[in-house]
Amino acid sequence: MGYYEFTIRVSDRSKDALLNRMDEMGCLGVSENRGRLVAYFRDSRDIILLRDGLNLFREVLRGAGLDPDFSFDYVYLSERDWNETWKKKFVPIDPGEKLAILPPWESARCGRIGLIIDPGMAFGTGHHETTKTCLMLIEKYVSGLLRNGPAANCVRKDCFLDVGTGTGILAIAASKLGFAHVTGVDIDPVAVDAAARNAELNDLGNVEIREGGIGDVEGRFDLIAANLMSEVLIGIAPEIASCLGDGALAILSGMLVGQEDDVIAGMKKAGLALLEKYYDGRWASVIVGRRR
Ligand code: SAH
Repeated sequence: MGYYEFTIRVSDRSKDALLNRMDEMGCLGVSENRGRLVAYFRDSRDIILLRDGLNLFREVLRGAGLDPDFSFDYVYLSERDWNETWKKKFVPIDPGEKLAILPPWESARCGRIGLIIDPGMAFGTGHHETTKTCLMLIEKYVSGLLRNGPAANCVRKDCFLDVGTGTGILAIAASKLGFAHVTGVDIDPVAVDAAARNAELNDLGNVEIREGGIGDVEGRFDLIAANLMSEVLIGIAPEIASCLGDGALAILSGMLVGQEDDVIAGMKKAGLALLEKYYDGRWASVIVGRRR
């Protein structure tokens, strides 16, 4: 398996529309580099469809009165190139107030709880807005040091579930923030391997990583994190509701701004109540809880 790296030159006026379109096309992540967008796609996506999808999008931009003149080129990255690219680009970051994300080749930052994450092939290095938001919200709802809400919203630090664990980053954070039992699930075996390896790198004995979805776990959880696409979140709303114990919360991220109302409606239909919405750039997150 490999990846396509697209370098795109686009005007500021059309940038957001193009970013949304690339999300719909399955883009794994985008970074901005000296006025250019660098976007990654798995090579399981047909390159002709990717190219045509971008070329045809010019008409959509033109129709919307935006600047249709963007240009792009792309290169193929083998799995090994991809890892090397990540290593070069991976800079340590400090999400929330207590955490620091560190690749294995960096040393710990003093005063912060270090999460060692070797990105490997899985999603979840902590650099994406949605991952950062989930980390910040996990910290917020366990810390008892709430700035924007009553401390009564804090959850018990007993059982944590991470649905779509990727590199295991949220599961590892939950364990390091004091949860007694942590479970991470992912349907992608590559992610399962990466998450299990990262749990080991962090020397965590209470993190269990399993291949599968939320339907493959049993029991109730005090806090659930699910950083997934909005359709997936809506599809698993009943399972999320039945996995939440009394006073338990779910942090849902991964939806684009504008998709959050559908996710909230799906959660309400499953019997959950909305506690909070959070926005970071183009991304929305919501916190829902079981109605008492
Ligand atoms: N939790 C990480 C990774 C999120 S990326 C973070 O916050 O950064 C989303 C992950 O969910 C991917 O690894 C993908 O394989 C997985 N996934 C997608 N649909 C899923 C589903 N229905 N059940 C479980 N995992 C799923």
